[in-house]
Amino acid sequence: MSFSGWFFFIFSLSLFAPVPISSSSEGVSNIAAEFLNYAKKGEVFDWIKSIRRKIHEHPELGYEEFETSKLIRTELDKMGISYKYPVAVTGVLGFIGTGKPPFVALRADMDALPLQEMVEWEHKSKIPGKMHACGHDAHVAMLLGAAKILQEHREDLQGTVVLVFQPAEEGGGGAKKLVEAGVLENVKAIFGLHVYPDLNEGKVSSTSGPLLAASGFFEAVISGKGGHAAIPQHSIDPILAASNVIVSLQHLVSREADPLDSQVVTIAKFQGGGAFNVIPDSVTIGGTFRAFSKKSILQLKQRIEEVIIGQAAVQRCNATVNFHGNEKPFYPATVNDEGLHEYFQDVAGDMLGVLNVKDMQPLMGSEDFSFYQEVIPGYFFFLGMKNETKGELASGHSPFFKINEDVLPIGAALHASLAARYLLQTQADTSTLNVKRHDEL
Ligand SMILES: [Zn+2]
Ligand SMILES: [Zn+2]
Repeated sequence: MSFSGWFFFIFSLSLFAPVPISSSSEGVSNIAAEFLNYAKKGEVFDWIKSIRRKIHEHPELGYEEFETSKLIRTELDKMGISYKYPVAVTGVLGFIGTGKPPFVALRADMDALPLQEMVEWEHKSKIPGKMHACGHDAHVAMLLGAAKILQEHREDLQGTVVLVFQPAEEGGGGAKKLVEAGVLENVKAIFGLHVYPDLNEGKVSSTSGPLLAASGFFEAVISGKGGHAAIPQHSIDPILAASNVIVSLQHLVSREADPLDSQVVTIAKFQGGGAFNVIPDSVTIGGTFRAFSKKSILQLKQRIEEVIIGQAAVQRCNATVNFHGNEKPFYPATVNDEGLHEYFQDVAGDMLGVLNVKDMQPLMGSEDFSFYQEVIPGYFFFLGMKNETKGELASGHSPFFKINEDVLPIGAALHASLAARYLLQTQADTSTLNVKRHDEL
């Protein structure tokens, strides 16, 4: 049965059924399996893989994804999919379906990391010091895969799918810029995924409510007075002051935060001095802080600044603190919509089997997908890649990071099914409402 067939089948059922339309109706549940079969077809799978490899060979950092963006537009052109470009510097928005509401969005991030790839393989990064070590190359390839599936079934779409190819996820807050550009106006829901090396191939996981933490970054310059290391009384030692600052910052989570409210403060940068016998003028420290609630993240921000300045003063040093709000905006917590969680479980369960749809514990990592969720209901989930028979997978942001390419069709088909079924269901709900309104007249 075509989509339209399903739509009318469900729609007519809904006119008589006292219960809301269930997305697990037999016809609808076939969409996921049909899409997965399509994505696994030799030529489609090979095409998705080849895109991922091309992007992997040419990694680009946040807001510099010009070639990646060009590749995306070339593929969209080939498929006859209309798009808008540029959005937020390098971003691309594709549109598939009726061009009319309802609108549902699928998102992929495009940026790489400033890292030298250490994996020796045929498609190793050709750009020294840059690497797709978080899997965003796979995300783009999977979203293009979903575009192919959806475009193939465009006649059956009951609304419009918006493909969001987003720049600068790794700290640059590309999602924030896209939201500010108004890309989510009229969009009812958005879905995003991330590859996950710690979860088995064929499984997906996520949760309802908070999934990933809010995060911020800070950098502080602690200034004293440099001098001879053997005559400390003539200097003001910023290294000792910075050391005390770091120890004091550890108290924010261990002594001030509610133990049941997960938080992190990590100092990941400590730079100062260059000789064994010289006390330097200043030291720079920096790090990140994480929490799940807005209140806690703002509290941490305020206390980090107070502790750095106050503790530096104890050691007779001055300190300035910079939160780099422009280049590295605060990321809100990634909080999944409850209704979309149930919906996701249905769709993913139909495709992979209910036992392969896992509930996961929240993580202290963060994602700028959260900016979309501040505006509309959104759902973010992880796609398992682990398969020990194919070798071990390094964690994200490692120079040894690898993608298990066999999961690419799953991600593409999941994206496509989530969007297609969402439109089908929304349209059916709206039609039922209209009929009810008509009855009341
Ligand atoms: Zn990352
Ligand atoms: Zn990532």
